[in-house]
Amino acid sequence: MEKMKVDKNLDQINVMVVDDEQDIRDGSERILVRIGFQVYKAARGDEALTLLEKEKPAIVLLDLKMPGMDGMEVLERIQKLDKPPLVIVITGYATVETAIEAMKQGAYDFIPKPFEPDQLRIVVNRAAEKIRLTRETEILELEKARTLLDLDTEKSRISTIIESLPDGVLVTNNTGQVVLMNPALKSLLDLGPDVKPGKQVEEYVTDESFCSLVMEISQGKHVDYEDIPDIEFALPNEKYLRARGQPVLGEKKECLGAVVNFADITAMKVLDRLKSEFVAKVSHELRSPLSTIHEQIAHVLNDMVGASLNDDQNILSRAKEKTQGLISMIGDLLDLSRIEEGLICHEPQPVHLDDLLRSIVEFLGARADAGDQSLQLEILSDPVPTITADPLALESIFGNLITNAINYTPENGKIRVEVDLAGINIRVKVIDNGFGIADKHFDKIFERFYRVKDEKTRYITGTGLGLSIVKGLVDSLGGIIQVDSAPGEGSTFTVLLPTTGNTG
Ligand code: ADP
Repeated sequence: MEKMKVDKNLDQINVMVVDDEQDIRDGSERILVRIGFQVYKAARGDEALTLLEKEKPAIVLLDLKMPGMDGMEVLERIQKLDKPPLVIVITGYATVETAIEAMKQGAYDFIPKPFEPDQLRIVVNRAAEKIRLTRETEILELEKARTLLDLDTEKSRISTIIESLPDGVLVTNNTGQVVLMNPALKSLLDLGPDVKPGKQVEEYVTDESFCSLVMEISQGKHVDYEDIPDIEFALPNEKYLRARGQPVLGEKKECLGAVVNFADITAMKVLDRLKSEFVAKVSHELRSPLSTIHEQIAHVLNDMVGASLNDDQNILSRAKEKTQGLISMIGDLLDLSRIEEGLICHEPQPVHLDDLLRSIVEFLGARADAGDQSLQLEILSDPVPTITADPLALESIFGNLITNAINYTPENGKIRVEVDLAGINIRVKVIDNGFGIADKHFDKIFERFYRVKDEKTRYITGTGLGLSIVKGLVDSLGGIIQVDSAPGEGSTFTVLLPTTGNTG
């Protein structure tokens, strides 16, 4: 609407002809109307001023010599107006000096009398052009102001949104300097509303791995967004946060910094802990009555030795197997709870992994023999550096992996345990040529209770807890575990553990 009004104003330029000579007035009107102007006429000065106020013409053709109020006086009065029109003075040859004087008084142009129609057209068109240009400039200025206002409104709208987000938001520049923190983040970090951004990220968040990840993202070291891991960390105020960062890219895809959003996962963590505590408590409570039942059954079965097999004996044997299964599951659950509480690795000491593996392989060799499987240990690095760890944790890791290799490899299969060095880590591979695992299960087998059930493994008993214990322990030792496997082709579980750098 506004724009249309402005456009109409642009095109429509009204002219007022002020002259005491009727011929000039009418003649000028004819010429100007023909080329599209709307024309008002006044024969005298005072009449001109009244019309001027009413019609507000943009151009005034003003005769200087008029009876009564003369042109000069009208010109003077016009110049005092708020938005004076452009004045073109009409003057006879004899009064060129007066015309010059009028120009000094602010007239825009002049036209000598008598004039040809063309002369009038040229002079008025020139004035009209100037008015159009002025109006266009005004409109552009107006639009510029409006765009700036829009930008400003947009900016404040976006900052209102960020300010009111329930999740924390942090933005850094490409040097890791914090440039924005919303109130939700300040309250998560217990920072107080007056804390200003401007310092490096580690001044606000103390967690080292978080800070170095944010620094890497800020400096554009993560091109592939998918690779940026979520990071969970605890705050000194006992809150747990999950942070997800992404680079902020400029027009040429250059990295300008990082934007990180934070979710408060304290409630989830508390629930997880309560769940683990519950599992630990229940397992603990179940363990002794179950063990008693198991012992009683074993006792009764012992007494029956020699007697011919009957139904009761069969039932009892199955009951004994089942209770044994339950007891080992409870053992695993208790182990898991202890790992989660960080208890199992509480007594780290220098360990010679080669010796430890030798004794596990020797111990489990009997089971492998029972299935006509070969079980070999190959130490490919000599000497093997020591590891600082709780030996029980290491026994549990490799005991579980080798037991799995035995369990999931058919008779006559081959199992090999290889030890070598990979950089600063000791690498242990447990390799079998057994049933193998499809890659869709790779992540899940490390979860609690997950078991792959297919024709080959269906009848193998287990709890699905072994690998989650192994993973928990490897994590707590600062190591990595990987699986490489294919159905029918066997599996390789690789464990990397940091060494102490000591071969003694
Ligand atoms: P469990 O052996 O008690 O079932 P685990 O957590 O140790 O539980 O293993 C989870 C699953 O991973 C197993 O059920 C099995 O399907 C698969 N798995 C583990 N190790 C191997 C292996 N060496 N070869 C084939 N499958 C394996």
